[in-house]
Amino acid sequence: MKCTLCDTNLLVMADEYYFICSTCGAYVKDEKYYLERKEEKERYKEHDNNVHDERYQDFTSPITDAILETHSKIIAAITFSVAKCLSIFMSQSKR
Ligand SMILES: [Zn+2]
Repeated sequence: MKCTLCDTNLLVMADEYYFICSTCGAYVKDEKYYLERKEEKERYKEHDNNVHDERYQDFTSPITDAILETHSKIIAAITFSVAKCLSIFMSQSKR
């Protein structure tokens, strides 16, 4: 099986269901766990692609939660760094 992002042969399993790509780091579901076409269509029909649809929010939440968690950590790190720099600049300007 090949990475769906960069076409590298997938050799390392991250867990029972996912490979981890040695080139791009993507987690790619083992194709033996892919849904059949009919199952996929039925699953897809459980929601509307509307950001206000709670079923759609639930459907996309694994991805959006991961992005928000990472984004929040990055923003917190930047905020801390900027605050630290401002503190240093302000203490130096008082001299
Ligand atoms: Zn890859």
